[in-house]
Amino acid sequence: MLGKCLAALGIMTWLVAAGLAHAQDKVRVVATFSILADLAKNVGGDAVEVASLVGPNGDAHAYAPSPADAKLLADAKLVLVNGLGFEGWIDRLVKASGTKAQVVAASKGVKARHAKGEPGHGHGHDHGTSDPHAWQSVANAKIYVGNIRDALVKADPEAKSTYEANASAYLAKLDALDREVKATIAAIPAARRKIITTHDAFGYFAAAYDVQFIAPQGVSTEAEVSARDLAKIIRQVKAQKIPAVFMENVTDPRLMRRIAEETGAKIGGKLYSDALSEPSGPAPTYIDMMKNNLKEFSAALAG
Ligand code: ZN
Repeated sequence: MLGKCLAALGIMTWLVAAGLAHAQDKVRVVATFSILADLAKNVGGDAVEVASLVGPNGDAHAYAPSPADAKLLADAKLVLVNGLGFEGWIDRLVKASGTKAQVVAASKGVKARHAKGEPGHGHGHDHGTSDPHAWQSVANAKIYVGNIRDALVKADPEAKSTYEANASAYLAKLDALDREVKATIAAIPAARRKIITTHDAFGYFAAAYDVQFIAPQGVSTEAEVSARDLAKIIRQVKAQKIPAVFMENVTDPRLMRRIAEETGAKIGGKLYSDALSEPSGPAPTYIDMMKNNLKEFSAALAG
């Protein structure tokens, strides 16, 4: 009896130890922001442990990294960044952390859009001239997923078949999402497909799905909006009869409220542009985020 118990205990101890060993074997991946972290979780599945530097509802344009972030990077096997000038703070952080991790730009291979009306004068930051928000087109998100898959296979070749299977299952979901976005936008009359957002985060969405976006702030949330720019937008909203203005989770809502007051445009719901919501919110994953934005667009723009 005692022998049996000891044997059972032994097996249990072994199982617990094996479980712990397994947890420690997970590939540590750090993504710079929540949207990228979600894509990495979908491709990595149980084989990875993903941390995001900028959390839900956080603004990656204006992020100030902490010593804890440097530690995360130092312990990582793979660091995923968006690239295209999105994370102006990342190179210095990588250097300071001394990490040996592979640093991969998930947007590699995306056809970069040039930022229109790039501010860049007198505000002390250099954002380059590309629009970084490539993930807002699902076709680009698929390119991200391919890059993440390849980077994980390189970092952890033993789990190659897992990453490939996870990626292809997730890519099929993204194909379905892309079809849904196209069908939903197509149902909105073309003349009403005009949207105002605070910062210019939807250029890739606009190009992919034939919606016109106007944004007073340019492609970075760090830009200041001049009185002249604001007056120009207000004239444009009135002249083009733009039906709705939208709040974003990463920007100050006051500017949009002011434009709505001065033009009579209605205030649409909250869009998730550069960050996911909290897990309990309406946009805890990339797919949920795209569906949430789509729902808000069609609710505000449907004739
Ligand atoms: Zn942005």
